[in-house]
Amino acid sequence: MNVSRELMRHDLLIGGETVPPGGGKYSTDLDPATEEPIALVAEGTAADVERAVQAARAALKPWNALRAAERGRILMRFSDLLREHQDAIAELECRDAGKPIAGVMRQDIPAAIDTLAYYAGWCDKINGQVVPARPDALTYTLREPVGVVAAIVPWNFPLMIGMWKIAPALACGCTLIVKPAEITPLSALKIGALALEAGVPPGVLNIVTGKGSVIGDALVKHPGIDKVTFTGSPSVGRGILQGAAGNFKRVTLELGGKSANVIFADANLDNAVRAAASGVFFNAGQVCSAGSRVLVQRAVYDEVVERLAARARSIRLGDPAQRDTHMGPVISARQMQSILDYVDIGVREGASLVTGGKRSGARGYFVEPTVFANVAHEMRISQEEIFGPVASVIPFDDEQDAVRIANGTLYSLAAGVWSADIGRVHRVAAGLKAGTVWINTYGHTDVRLPWGGSGDSGFGREHGDVAIENFTEPKTVWLSLA
Ligand code: NAD
Repeated sequence: MNVSRELMRHDLLIGGETVPPGGGKYSTDLDPATEEPIALVAEGTAADVERAVQAARAALKPWNALRAAERGRILMRFSDLLREHQDAIAELECRDAGKPIAGVMRQDIPAAIDTLAYYAGWCDKINGQVVPARPDALTYTLREPVGVVAAIVPWNFPLMIGMWKIAPALACGCTLIVKPAEITPLSALKIGALALEAGVPPGVLNIVTGKGSVIGDALVKHPGIDKVTFTGSPSVGRGILQGAAGNFKRVTLELGGKSANVIFADANLDNAVRAAASGVFFNAGQVCSAGSRVLVQRAVYDEVVERLAARARSIRLGDPAQRDTHMGPVISARQMQSILDYVDIGVREGASLVTGGKRSGARGYFVEPTVFANVAHEMRISQEEIFGPVASVIPFDDEQDAVRIANGTLYSLAAGVWSADIGRVHRVAAGLKAGTVWINTYGHTDVRLPWGGSGDSGFGREHGDVAIENFTEPKTVWLSLA
């Protein structure tokens, strides 16, 4: 196609150099808002993974030869460069992932900058301990980098989730191979270039684009990789765990969710409904912690359904590059079809479709914000992750009932509870099976606070000091004084 000849070609970043993919193939990257091609992106091969692993292994020594404070200064420069280039990066993220520019500027970019700055501060504070175990010995611990990390990133927050992995790994002295999702590779490539400009030595941060089934699989099975940090779907996560078993890699899995946002009758309904709407419709519902199950106490059920539907109808769907757009397209034709299939399933299961449920327009992958009422807990739309702008509103009777329903899926990533009763919110928070519980708010994350889940939501936590543990190995040193 003529158009694609004019598109910019993006190569791999390996060992500090941009290199063409071994097989010479490039895939066409689409703008989900227009379905138009926007770039050609290298389709890496297993041989490219091999080169990247060699480069990352070789870079471990020079990266760790730097003083920790110097690594911190480099990461701080990296964070500053991200801020300097934020407009260009936001535009890339907006076009590549269909994310509304206002949301990218409000959340993704500041979170990525903050994550780098936060872990820059950690570099010279990763301490071991002197542990006085015996009088005849000096016994102490060190924390050493785990080594080479494979970071496999999804398409819903390519920059932010990518940085959640890159920043702590670099702070700990690890080197990385980042594999962005094949449909959203552009911000990762830009980040790789900025890291070099900031002074991150060549080979420390490698970006290999291409198919998950090729690049992801080769990384996960490669004996030269020491740790895999993955965010994505439970099915791929399961395969990663098996693939990583060969050399007993350390694995962190951040998988999906079907989070419950529980609204009691005594809650401030203005706040609860506003947050419930943004909790499920933000990023077109393509959020692992989306509050896709809105549990509402029967006394206010009809009112909340009506108000949530009104909010859904008021959402401005459209060109993500426009500042006043609330919701952009979903990521792909496949994702759009999967969401619309779930709408059909919901209708067939007997739930009431209150608003939405259709594709919007004929160009771009836009799906109307959708609200289902009278959803029974057992229905598939209440149990399975839709990963789109679809709210399932489920009635409940009392606290016990709410906790039973909220905990009744295979996932346990996040949950919300809304009530004016201070005793109740703590009782319910204690009863909810979730890595994060929001009380009278919904959806916030902060790099200082652990993030992750259990069950089908995966295991391990990102952020904070937990991530420092993820990317380091403790070493015990025992010196005889006898
Ligand atoms: P996905 O699992 O299809 O892909 C995630 C990444 O894995 C991509 O980079 C992909 O290329 C790669 N991959 C695909 N097949 C692979 C394989 N065989 N081996 C190794 N890597 C492979 O998920 P997605 O569709 O990109 O993202 C949506 C999913 O991610 C949802 O289920 C969502 O809930 C989850 N998610 C979770 C969190 C969280 O923090 N828990 C955050 C965002 C997204």
